[in-house]
Amino acid sequence: MLISVLVVIAAVGLAVQALIGLTFFISSVREGESRASVFAGFQFLGMLVVFAVFLVLASSNFFHTGPGLFLLLLGYAAIGGAAFFLLRRTAPNPRALQGAAGRIQGEVARFDERTQVFARNRSLRPESDEYNRFYQEHPEYQQIDRRRREKGGPIGHPGIIDRPHEEANVAMMLASQSMCIYLSTPEKTAPQPHLHLREKVKERRVNLDPDEATRMVKGYARHLGAALVGITEANPLWMYSHRGEIFHENWEDWGKEIRLDHKYVIVLAEEMSLEMIGSGPHTPTTVESMNNYAKGAYISAQIAAFIANLGYSAAANHLRHYDGLMVPLAVDAGLGELGRLGYLMTKEYGPRVRLSGVTTDLPLVSDKPVDIGVEDFCEICKKCSACCPSGSIPMGGQTVVNGTLRWKLNEQTCFEYWGKVGTDCNVCMRVCPWSHARTFPHRLIVSLIVRNRLARRIFSAMDDLFYGRKPKPKAPPNWVRFTEKERRE
Ligand code: SF4
Ligand code: SF4
Repeated sequence: MLISVLVVIAAVGLAVQALIGLTFFISSVREGESRASVFAGFQFLGMLVVFAVFLVLASSNFFHTGPGLFLLLLGYAAIGGAAFFLLRRTAPNPRALQGAAGRIQGEVARFDERTQVFARNRSLRPESDEYNRFYQEHPEYQQIDRRRREKGGPIGHPGIIDRPHEEANVAMMLASQSMCIYLSTPEKTAPQPHLHLREKVKERRVNLDPDEATRMVKGYARHLGAALVGITEANPLWMYSHRGEIFHENWEDWGKEIRLDHKYVIVLAEEMSLEMIGSGPHTPTTVESMNNYAKGAYISAQIAAFIANLGYSAAANHLRHYDGLMVPLAVDAGLGELGRLGYLMTKEYGPRVRLSGVTTDLPLVSDKPVDIGVEDFCEICKKCSACCPSGSIPMGGQTVVNGTLRWKLNEQTCFEYWGKVGTDCNVCMRVCPWSHARTFPHRLIVSLIVRNRLARRIFSAMDDLFYGRKPKPKAPPNWVRFTEKERRE
């Protein structure tokens, strides 16, 4: 009787394994992952064969014989052992659980937005007062930025963006970007209460306790389309010291000290379509980046307006108006961890997100940082580094930069590559094993990676096997322009 029960349980277990293999095969085919489809297909067939052999042996009562019982118990021991080593939760990473502050290993100076590569190359106009003042104060950037300017406009020398074939995609990119610009005027980023409410909330703010305010803000953000939302107290170290990016000719703001009068930051993440970023570094990937920046602008501007209408102060943070560094703020808000590639890595979508946020004095309840195993996984994987066309992502270990431990992205060479191709590249995001579509098998893999070190090692190696160490770009949906040559590559 006991042997029969063991045989039935083993048969069900093998059938479930074969079914998981089948779902992986189907999802690989649907994602257009030809290499993964072949491997998943063989894996599924292998499981089917094992299952069929098991059924044949079971029907001939083989497992009721001495050797059969030994084989059955051996199978149980092997599967039980593998399950034990793969499912147990390994020791947490204390650094991750402290959030971005866990990375502090020295004195941290607040980041001046004027020194940021975009502000230097995009906002500053050669020979303007601000330009002369900036390079007097920061001669270390003068040569490098001059070389860039000599190559061509603020983005750089002509790249694929300038090919006639790309014009329609560029038109889409810039359409989304214009939405961010439109939503970056002072009345949109730091809204006043609506005219109908202005007098009323000046006398008395709408009364919400922090729990209720948090529930409403998060619910509203998700309702507006945010994929992820978290809240943190604003660590002043991650807020810019001075304004550097200027978009509406309001040059009186350039170099203005950024005030720290908002205690909380609501951090929002938008999911980027895998289909679109799969084409990186070609233009469709930037169509998607800009689309998600536009979504972030739309959601953050509405949440800021909502909070202003409650009678509190709020500022929308998005592509065309940031008061702070969104990645460490997102880490503190529990949205994920910092990855080797310099982006936020989330459990839900990996690095495939764009960030926006709202700073506010509305009392809220903060979330806690999370440990999802990113630091350990990135130590092993290094795929983004192997694939980065400009060699901007380090292969080696983390270093202390401005008092914080991290993999130091060479933002200068990355930005130069963007200028060369005329897009925001996203190759690192495309190849990251955490970026896969969240189908059932990938969700299962991520849940194992999050809890277990051995799983990180196994699945990092399997990713190389199934998808290749240097996966090629894939064709985007048909409605986006892509040359036949690119589709064949
Ligand atoms: S590709 Fe690998 S090393 Fe790079 S961020 Fe993703 S998991 Fe980390
Ligand atoms: S965006 Fe491209 S160039 Fe920049 S780090 Fe990523 S892969 Fe490298």
